[in-house]
Amino acid sequence: MTSKQMLNFNYPAAMNSEINNGMLLDISNELRTPLTVIQVALDLLSCGKLGTLSQEEYRMVEIATNNTERLMRLTNVIEGNIENLGIVVSDKELAQLKLERDLEKALSRNEFSLSYQPIISLKNNKVIGLEALIRWEHPYLGTIYPDQFIPLAEKSDAIIQISNWVLKEACRQLSQWQNDFPGYFDLLTVSVNISSKHLAEPNLLEQIKQVIQETGLKSKNLVLEITESAIINNKIQAQEILTELQNLGIRVCIDDFGMGYSSFSRLHELPFNVLKIDRYFVQKMNCLNGMHIIEAITNMSHNLQLEVIAEGVETLEQVFQLQSLGCNKVQGYLFAKPLENHEIADLVCGKIDFFNFSSLNLGGN
Ligand code: C2E
Ligand code: CA
Ligand code: CA
Repeated sequence: MTSKQMLNFNYPAAMNSEINNGMLLDISNELRTPLTVIQVALDLLSCGKLGTLSQEEYRMVEIATNNTERLMRLTNVIEGNIENLGIVVSDKELAQLKLERDLEKALSRNEFSLSYQPIISLKNNKVIGLEALIRWEHPYLGTIYPDQFIPLAEKSDAIIQISNWVLKEACRQLSQWQNDFPGYFDLLTVSVNISSKHLAEPNLLEQIKQVIQETGLKSKNLVLEITESAIINNKIQAQEILTELQNLGIRVCIDDFGMGYSSFSRLHELPFNVLKIDRYFVQKMNCLNGMHIIEAITNMSHNLQLEVIAEGVETLEQVFQLQSLGCNKVQGYLFAKPLENHEIADLVCGKIDFFNFSSLNLGGN
C-alpha cells in the first residue's frame, strides 16, 4: 500500500472500533473542561471586555468560537449517543481527528524518520548535497508522507517540535557521516525544510545555534529551504532572520521558486544563496515557454550570484535541456528517490555506481 494514495487514511476495520471507543472516551473525558474554559475566554474576547480587537483578530476569535462549539456538540453527542456521531463529523473528519491526535504522540513514540534525496552537480557528476525529507511510520497506516501530515501539524504547535527534531536529526546525521567516513562528507550540505510557522518562531535563531553547537556540524554544511510563500507571509521578520543566518554562515535556499507569486523585483531585497526551481517548471520544459522560463530564472540567478538547482528532474532530455541553459545542479527521481541512511553512505562513499553515470553519458568527469 503506498501511502501517497491513502488520502482518506482508512484505519483497518478491526482497529477502527477499538480506536473509536478509546478515542471517544478520551474525547469526552478530556474535552469538556478545557472547552468550557475556552468558551468563557472567547466570550470575553469577542464582547470587547479585554480590549478592542482588530478585524483580523475578531475573525480569528470567530473561527475559534465556531470550532469550540463544534467540539462541544461532539462531546454532547458522545456522552448521549455514540451512534449519532455521524451527525457531527463525517468519516473523513473523524479520520483527520484521529490523525491529528496520533500526530501529537508521534514524536515521543519515535515514529518519525528522515530520508535524504541527493542533489547532484552535472559538472562533476558528484553528490553535493542531501535534502532531508521527513517520513511518519504510523503504527496502523504505514508510511505517511509529509504532504499529508505537515499541513495538519501546521494547524497546531506540533510543527515547531517536529521541525526542531528534523533540524537536529539532519545535522546530527551529517555530522555522524563526517566522523564515520572521513573525507567523503566534508563538503556536502544537508538541506532542511523550514515551514512558515517555524520561520515565525521568535527563538528560531537560538534553536539553530544550539543545534549547530550540540551536533558539532559546521554552519557552512547547513542549508535551510524556505518557500517563497513562507517568506512573503513573514516578509519583515524573514529579512532580519535571513540576514542573521547569513552572518552565521548558514546558507538559505528559496524553495519551490515560481510557485509563490513573489515578484522577481522583490527577490534581490532578500539575502539568499540558493534558488530551487520548482518541478512544475522542469516538467513544462518540453514546450518552448517552459524552456524560456527556466532560462530566465537561471540567468537571473547567475546575475544575482545565486546558486540554482532544478528539482523534479525525471528524464535525460530534461538534463540535457537544463545543461544547455546553464543549470548544472539537479535533484530528481532520474538520479535517486529519497534514500535511507545506509543507502546514502554507500552512494557517497562510491561503493555502488548508483546513478549509473557511465550509461547516462552526461559528459561530466
Ligand atoms: P519539497 O521541499 O519540494 O521536496 C521535494 C519533494 O519532491 C519530495 O517529496 C520528493 O520526494 C519529491 N520529488 C523529488 N524528486 C522528484 C521527482 O523527480 N519527481 C517527483 N514527482 N517528485 C519528486 P516529499 O518527500 O513527499 O515531500 C513533500 C513536501 O513536504 C516537501 O516538498 C516539503 O515541502 C515538505 N516536507 C518534507 N519534509 C519536511 C520537513 O522536514 N519539514 C517541513 N516543514 N516540510 C517538509
Ligand atoms: Ca524542499
Ligand atoms: Ca521544492
